[in-house]
Amino acid sequence: MNNHLNRRTFLTQMSAAALATGLSSIPFISSARSLGESKKLGIALVGLGYYSVDELMPALQKTQNVKLTGLVTGTPEKAKKYGEKYNIPKTNIYNYQNFDEIAKNPAIDVIYIVLPNSMHKEFVLRAAKAGKQVICEKPMALNAAECREMIAACQKAGVSLSIGYRLHYEPYTQHIMKMAKDKPFGDISMVHASAGWRMERPNDHWKAKSKFGGGAMMDMGPYPLQAARYATGLEPVAVTAQMFNTAPEVFEGVDETTTFQLEFPGNIVANCTTTLAANVNFLNINAERGEYGLRPFSGYGGIHGFLPDGKSFDFPEMNQQAAQMDEMCLSIIEKRPCKTPGEEGLRDMIIIDAIRESVQKGGKRIVLK
Ligand code: NAD
Repeated sequence: MNNHLNRRTFLTQMSAAALATGLSSIPFISSARSLGESKKLGIALVGLGYYSVDELMPALQKTQNVKLTGLVTGTPEKAKKYGEKYNIPKTNIYNYQNFDEIAKNPAIDVIYIVLPNSMHKEFVLRAAKAGKQVICEKPMALNAAECREMIAACQKAGVSLSIGYRLHYEPYTQHIMKMAKDKPFGDISMVHASAGWRMERPNDHWKAKSKFGGGAMMDMGPYPLQAARYATGLEPVAVTAQMFNTAPEVFEGVDETTTFQLEFPGNIVANCTTTLAANVNFLNINAERGEYGLRPFSGYGGIHGFLPDGKSFDFPEMNQQAAQMDEMCLSIIEKRPCKTPGEEGLRDMIIIDAIRESVQKGGKRIVLK
């Protein structure tokens, strides 16, 4: 079983477990309005790996405001296979060398970067230069300096930059964000968040290599980091962190596991874990009148909400990626900022830089400016 199948199996198992509980649902109404077939934007996916092929391409068959019109890949076999499968004309298929010619293609409005993390900056800059709207996968880049360069390039080109934080577009996460504002159980005092999956070994995947921006913190770390931020509705003021690597022959110069603690205003502490050594996924929020949260919290489906006193909440299943791309494209069409712009990716990356600094300094407390 390869790594992606392993991750997919974990995510699918999470869905099945939640369905088996037979919990009642709260109706969810997607905020993404449909503008009709003629107004759909055309999108090109750059990098045809697991996330593009298994998640984004099927989601694009369900979107209302955007359709798949282009592919960018370095592998001719993939160009043929997915070009035929999704009816993409050869004139809309590019490789990494002739990618810049996409500027002249009116069928492609939006470019979605789904490449290894170390390649995000280069392709966001090239997409902006081509004058296309840009979506980039998480983590936005290798560090905050790269994120700032990407935001500046998109601003200069007059194009939008959105980050693929799909959970902002699904109802459980939105409910947790609302609870941070409404405080139904009193003030929040503590958050525990953990996200990880078990990478099979041995392997030579880029996600285990430093030069590609691999490691647990870069791969799954954004989930507990984001969760701590949206569950409190606050920005952290200080961070401490520890990194572990029990298999340096597999995880080359990167973390296999990272634990980090975030201090928020009001004496709120978040204790977070991310790992490529275990399948783990939960978000616990402790407030004055009990504990609530999501378990799991970051799967593609099967999320389940729990409340104090054994109560629970659920929403109907939906396609997160379709909702994300629909809402992003609607904001492009309506010329307004999306929920998860480049600045949101930058905010995470500033904290990830501080997490690295804390580890390098032996777990020192780093104050965030
Ligand atoms: P993947 O390895 O399956 O796909 C990466 C693609 O990039 C492959 O098609 C590969 O051929 C191509 N590529 C081009 N140049 C390469 C090079 N030099 N080395 C390696 N691959 C190269 O990875 P993935 O899981 O699809 O992840 C891609 C991006 O999507 C990452 O940034 C990842 O963090 C993100 N992602 C996001 C989610 C989410 O839920 N939002 C889920 C999975 C992945």
